[in-house]
This record gives sequence, structure tokens and C-alpha cells, in this order.
Amino acid sequence: MPLYDYECVKCAHVFEVFHKLSEEGVDYPCPKCGAGKSRKRVSPFKTDAWSKFLDTMERKVNPHKFK
Ligand SMILES: [Zn+2]
Repeated sequence: MPLYDYECVKCAHVFEVFHKLSEEGVDYPCPKCGAGKSRKRVSPFKTDAWSKFLDTMERKVNPHKFK
């Protein structure tokens, strides 16, 4: 199932949602402020390689988190 980034139109909080293509266009409520409106963010770099890169960066910035 694809993973999509949604951005809350109210507080700009970004959250990830797994959903089917058939659920395209559904509004997901923001987990932070509860607003019922969100818009899909296009994330062309959402790949395993990109995730691993971000992981590596975070390990450098916050090594204590990975002990
Ligand atoms: Zn929000």
C-alpha cells in the first residue's frame, strides 16, 4: 500500500497516511490539531534510499536516539 504525506491546512503539520489508490481524495484529519482538512504533498523522493539517507543524517544529529 502506498504511503502518502499529508499536510494539515490549518497548522501545517505533516503526517503520513497509508491508503489505497481508491481512497484518493479523502480528507484525513490532522493528528495534531484535529482539523478535518489536509492536502496531499507530492514527495518524489519518497524512496527507500531517501529514507535511509534521512536515517543516516538523524543518527549524526541525534546519536543518543539510536543507542
Ligand atoms: Zn493540524
